[in-house]
Amino acid sequence: MAQLSDDCFAPGDGLLSVEAAEALIAERVPPLAGEEEVPLAAALGRVLTRALRAPRPLPPFRNSAVDGYALRHADLAPEGPTRLRLAGRVAAGQAAAPLPPGAAARIFTGAPMPPGADTVLMQEDAAPEPGAVLVPAGLASGGNVRPAGEDVARGAVALPAGRRLRAPEIGLAAALGCATLPVAPRVRVGVFSTGDELASPGTALGPAQTYDSNRFTLLALLARLPVVASDLGILPDRAGASAAALREAAGRHDLLLTSGGVSAGEEDHVRAAIEQDGRLVFWRLAVKPGRPAALGVLRGAGGAGLGGTPVLGLPGNPVAAVVTFLHLARPLVLRLAGAAPEPLPRFAAEAGFAHRKKAGRREYVRVRLRPGGALPVADKFAREGSGLLTSLTESDAFAELPEEVTAVAPGDRVQVLPFAALF
Ligand code: AMP
Ligand code: MG
Repeated sequence: MAQLSDDCFAPGDGLLSVEAAEALIAERVPPLAGEEEVPLAAALGRVLTRALRAPRPLPPFRNSAVDGYALRHADLAPEGPTRLRLAGRVAAGQAAAPLPPGAAARIFTGAPMPPGADTVLMQEDAAPEPGAVLVPAGLASGGNVRPAGEDVARGAVALPAGRRLRAPEIGLAAALGCATLPVAPRVRVGVFSTGDELASPGTALGPAQTYDSNRFTLLALLARLPVVASDLGILPDRAGASAAALREAAGRHDLLLTSGGVSAGEEDHVRAAIEQDGRLVFWRLAVKPGRPAALGVLRGAGGAGLGGTPVLGLPGNPVAAVVTFLHLARPLVLRLAGAAPEPLPRFAAEAGFAHRKKAGRREYVRVRLRPGGALPVADKFAREGSGLLTSLTESDAFAELPEEVTAVAPGDRVQVLPFAALF
């Protein structure tokens, strides 16, 4: 990653703000090169590489929005009801014959408008009679008609480049007749855990061991992104081992994620491993939980089109790993995938809790949401601790307390990031 590695962000003692880290990723990380054409059924979650212009208008022809009667508005009496004789019937999928003057045609939703007709009377408002229909007074001209191209005009940009393809985008592409779409390559992400205390679930637990949860949390978080993730297991707390494993994995991945081993302790080897084969871009983020997060670039290794492979060292504590994943790994993956920026979704809530914090760092408090007055109320999870996995399973959202805030009181307005949109 030439741009990143050439940058002069000296990892000094100061903490980098979340905003600065996000800006760094947005501005300095180049998207991966390449493109593939995938069928719609395989396009979910992928990133569109080129704008999709409508090859034809949508809808392709003028049609009825309702079941009813197609007519010419000029045939209606200025005041009072009008009786029109029935001439013709057009169902969805049929061609429409021209409408004779002074007549109405039975029409169904999605059927083409008969040439000459400009308005549709809803069948619920019609008084049908044998061979005729009674049109009540006051029908608006042009009502219940869907003009050709009212959704998308021919040649208009229906989907911009960089758009992540969700169900609605896939439906729109299908409606425009596209069977395949050009998408960016999936980002190859390798995930390591670090720590001599960790055991993999399914294996026996030694006396001073705990099960590795971060690897599985991170792989599950990655599953929502356009990636091919690989589980690279657990690295022991040995400097040489970490460096060798990172070096080897870097050639096969576009991004490496580690968790743990990135603090200032003498058993924390990830930073040293990055510096041995590359360069640290930043270390330590002004965020709680999640301070000891690091971004580095491994020199000379793979990373399609980049000068090196980025490595994100996430903190070991499980909640800190999740918070930093959302603020660093997610935008990094989206950038590599060429996706347009997608800020984390936030909405306003009312604090149902009191809380004190240090100025100068952003804090994420796990909260549960309940209905309130004007705003939902956010209640803080009862216990502190960035190692508590149940603080995530039993909460609904992160309350985001900005850098300058030092105290929150019940009734204060806070922004919350709903888990439903994050995980
Ligand atoms: P570290 O940053 O390596 O000092 O780890 C901080 C804390 O997070 C320690 O209690 C570790 O045991 C814990 N931890 C580190 N990695 C993991 C992991 N993959 N799964 C669960 N806990 C972890
Ligand atoms: Mg450790």
